Amino acid sequence: MPAVTAWQEVADRIFVRRYDPFDVNVTVVAGSHGTLLIDTRTTLVEATEVREHLRELPVAAPTAVVITHAHLDHCLGAGAFAGLPLWASDGCRGDLRRHGVAQRDRWLDWLPEEQHAHLRASPIPVPDRPVTDRHRLDLGGRDVELLVPGRGHTDHDLVVHVPDAATVLAGDLVEVGAPPQFHDAYPFEWPATLARVEALGAEVTVPGHGAPADAATVSTQQRELAHLAALARELLGGIRGRDSVLSGSPFPPEATAIALERAAATGTGPAR
Ligand SMILES: [Zn+2]
Repeated sequence: MPAVTAWQEVADRIFVRRYDPFDVNVTVVAGSHGTLLIDTRTTLVEATEVREHLRELPVAAPTAVVITHAHLDHCLGAGAFAGLPLWASDGCRGDLRRHGVAQRDRWLDWLPEEQHAHLRASPIPVPDRPVTDRHRLDLGGRDVELLVPGRGHTDHDLVVHVPDAATVLAGDLVEVGAPPQFHDAYPFEWPATLARVEALGAEVTVPGHGAPADAATVSTQQRELAHLAALARELLGGIRGRDSVLSGSPFPPEATAIALERAAATGTGPAR
């Protein structure tokens, strides 16, 4: 179990804490007059624990919250920070509006029963600061960019770039310690989207789950996603069999099978 860890300062005034369940990351980025909290865990109860833990940090309390995407392990705790500006991609806002309640109902099947009341009591977030492409935030002596680099893990992933610290918070576009999650993914577009994130030149990348990654780890994941996309294209084109794709995939068979379903459902992507 990754368990609850202490805050780790992964770069200048960028603090990450890993939480169970799901080994999900919560990150704080601080400037001289603003502090961003990125992702909020799954329930109000869990987010209230985060709020307590924030007091341990040598920086001011959050002045705004950012959610990387609409999967509830990243955002359903946002209600614990009601009153603060809530940033998300415009697509994330729409996804939560259309599917948030149904997604919360599905999560009841995945979480132990003692957490069901907490889940039901957590309101679906309503981001009031939507980002369509990119937006620059001034935290005081530190500019932070919110970017929507394209479809990948979902159709609305947002990343946070902190140029002065060569750090990117990638949400689930990057996964460490587990295979990428493909349930809502765009397998043919994810490689190019991650390449755009990689081009930001970060030395430290905070994934949605697991330990912070260096540039080489992100680069490897980008190539693995591109390899999988190439295999899926060959499968859909009838020039490679399913067993060959499953055995040749850089990811485990279960993850690959979901990726192939999504590849078939979302189209073959641009020709290469
Ligand atoms: Zn996710």
